[in-house]
Amino acid sequence: MALTLTSDVSDHAAEWRDRAACRSTDPDLFFPVGTTGPAISQIESAKAVCRTCPSLDPCLEFALATNQDSGVWGATSEEERRKLRRQWLARRRQAAATA
Ligand code: SF4
Repeated sequence: MALTLTSDVSDHAAEWRDRAACRSTDPDLFFPVGTTGPAISQIESAKAVCRTCPSLDPCLEFALATNQDSGVWGATSEEERRKLRRQWLARRRQAAATA
């Protein structure tokens, strides 16, 4: 997954949140307890909502930029975001080293 983070994702936060598909769902769906057992199907159900969401990209961008480490954001689990964030930080360090 290629992702480019903009410098100020918070400017547009209200805009994408207004269009969020999860506004009409139970917020608890997006914050499963744990990552095993029943939480697995809960995570997949939350991701299914995300995949219909017009705000998926800015939501994921916001979650990575602000290091949201709990719950499902932008159709990603906590572990998936940790991996994406490590890749993003590595790219930033590399860019800073070559600047
Ligand atoms: S991508 Fe998922 S968590 Fe993000 S706003 Fe949309 S439905 Fe909510």
